[in-house]
Amino acid sequence: MSSTVLGAAAPTAGTGQPALEIRGLSKTFPIGGLLSRKSVRALHQVDLSLGRGEIVALVGESGSGKSTLARCVARLEKPSSGEILLDGVDVLKRDRFQASRAYRSQLQMVFQDPFGSLNPAHRIEHFLRRSLAIHGKAGSAAATQRRLEELMATVGLQPDMLNSYPHELSGGQRQRVAIARALAVEPQVILADEPTSMLDVSVRIGILNLMRKLRDEQGISMLYITHDLASARYLADRTAVMFAGELVEEGESLDLLANPAHPYTQLLVSAVPDPARSGSYDPVRRAELRAAVMSPASCAFDGDPEQPCSAEQPVRHRVGSPDNRHWVRCHLYRPAAGSAGHALVESKVS
Ligand code: ADP
Ligand code: MG
Repeated sequence: MSSTVLGAAAPTAGTGQPALEIRGLSKTFPIGGLLSRKSVRALHQVDLSLGRGEIVALVGESGSGKSTLARCVARLEKPSSGEILLDGVDVLKRDRFQASRAYRSQLQMVFQDPFGSLNPAHRIEHFLRRSLAIHGKAGSAAATQRRLEELMATVGLQPDMLNSYPHELSGGQRQRVAIARALAVEPQVILADEPTSMLDVSVRIGILNLMRKLRDEQGISMLYITHDLASARYLADRTAVMFAGELVEEGESLDLLANPAHPYTQLLVSAVPDPARSGSYDPVRRAELRAAVMSPASCAFDGDPEQPCSAEQPVRHRVGSPDNRHWVRCHLYRPAAGSAGHALVESKVS
């Protein structure tokens, strides 16, 4: 009974070079003041790639390190170690000043809070014009006006809203403006950090459909950060699961969410309401895990004193057939004997 152990390279999606590749990214934050030596490990050895025109969901509990990953990739935070390659170029090695504007023109971020991200003193037109101007995309007055109206149409807003102030718009409309502002730059990659979590349920689907349209029609690659697995399944080609700063499982969204191999993924999946499934959700276990995510001294799933998991980081195991690019990193994972399918050490899981 041997499993396939994957090499160090992240499985790349699509054809050719990935749009974005993250290798061995780690980040620790010092805590407790200047003289303190304490630190919190927010990310540890994360490998993740985004193919061209691909949406990858990054899912995990609050505090698991998702925003830190996006902020490191967007250069809002300096990683402790690792490489970030955009179009094959290591962005951390480029000269800071010269690199930052060029980088922003290739990669844009959309934040969770559409209320905080638009200055209330300006009309919508201002945000889009400014974005065009900063990145050298503004043309003649007429061409710029056409581009503004085109951007509004792309994100599903009426052109007369260019004259509105942010407070006159709903949360969903504001998030569409934030996306239009990112699109003005014509980026290859968009990092969207919980873009729908502050919106009414009724307008979330519209934003997800907009993101899907941008992937399909413009070939934009996206990292979609969420704690909502149902939206990951709906939107993302692949899903990566983050637990206490580490990626523990990754695969095509439909396959990963139907056949979760890591006990943490199984727990997340069990918390998604599904009338077809009964009674696997354990709120006490979930509360314990939330606490474990916040203080990752050891893996919260290693609950067996008879057979403790090794202190080493587990290797990655392929799950199922090689075609579905599904892997898991867990000492407890065992493929079924004589089968290429899924098998878990169930006794330790529940
Ligand atoms: P998520 O987005 O998944 O909720 P975060 O990336 O925001 O998680 O946080 C991951 C961990 O890093 C948490 O323990 C958080 O407290 C810590 N952290 C994030 N930013 C900072 C910071 N600027 N200073 C200290 N700790 C931080
Ligand atoms: Mg976050």
